[in-house]
Amino acid sequence: MSNRIIELRSDTFTKPTPAMFEAMMSASVGDDVFGEDEMVNALEQKTAKLFGMEAAIFCPSGTMTNQLAIRAHCIPGSEVICDEQSHVYIYEGGGIAVNAQSSVRLIRGEKGKITAAQVGNAINNPNDIHQPVTRLVSLENTSNRGGGSIYDFKEIVNIKNVCVQNKLKLHLDGARLFNALVGSTETPLNYGKTFDSISICLSKGLGCPVGSLLLGNTEIIKQTRRFRKLMGGGWRQAGFLAAAGVYALDHHVERLREDHRRAKEVGKLISKLSYVKDIYPIETNIVIFELDVTITAIEFVKKMNENGIKCIPFGKHLVRMVTHLDFTDNDLEYLHHVLSS
Ligand SMILES: *Cc1c(COP(=O)(O)O)cnc(C)c1O
Repeated sequence: MSNRIIELRSDTFTKPTPAMFEAMMSASVGDDVFGEDEMVNALEQKTAKLFGMEAAIFCPSGTMTNQLAIRAHCIPGSEVICDEQSHVYIYEGGGIAVNAQSSVRLIRGEKGKITAAQVGNAINNPNDIHQPVTRLVSLENTSNRGGGSIYDFKEIVNIKNVCVQNKLKLHLDGARLFNALVGSTETPLNYGKTFDSISICLSKGLGCPVGSLLLGNTEIIKQTRRFRKLMGGGWRQAGFLAAAGVYALDHHVERLREDHRRAKEVGKLISKLSYVKDIYPIETNIVIFELDVTITAIEFVKKMNENGIKCIPFGKHLVRMVTHLDFTDNDLEYLHHVLSS
């Protein structure tokens, strides 16, 4: 047994590269609560421009950017439509109820993706006083629990049309939006045109230690600045972190293709295992597979841990592996070695 550790639990584990560290150390910073941190301002403007949106706000986490958006779009007593596997529903501590005092209408989508027809059927009658008022649709792209699946942009446009017809806002949890962009032919500008707000994580595939951005119009972003302060999220010399973000947008987007290629390679190795029953289609950097009844996810993960390979149980028989900046071809070789021994 070697001491080697291969981290496949999440793409959040990456450490800054030397060049990213260099960019962080040479950042020119100020107090962001006063609006005077040059790097933060530069990151917000750069990202907003890339998506053709009016403004952006830099925050510590994707949970915060999602929650700020939902809070800004909903008043108490609203309802949010989303897939039942959504991060905003499963992994944000019930934040929709706490922060926006709103309820959720869950849709059973396909690999985390919902359709315009499903959205249409889930909208409450605004004239029925019994029902919460549907105000927001939240999509996730790529879908984490859908195995990094990418939406067909045509369906997103269909959903947008339903939203416009019914006066609903449309939010995108784009924690891994750059994976979706690199894995398709769609442009950031088209996303910017379609959504009322977009949340993007710098701390996932883009390889930053910390940080997410929320994009939207000037009014929404102004409102979320107040909410962020109220939550204790007003930060000071955040420019050191923003510098990592600017660096990542310039240098770490195209390379996501490598993560996608390696994820496909991981998938090939996994599908050869006799006790693997099913594997989700691999569209980006996430590999989810189902083990047969002879082994539970916990048992499999334990076995892998003993060989220095870390991955996470994603259900009783489901396991997730995520490729990223710090998972190399050499690591792939080692994984091959472990799985075939
Ligand atoms: C990681 C992630 C987030 C944000 O998570 P934080 O840990 O709060 O930054 C949001 N949505 C999805 C789909 C994610 O995978």
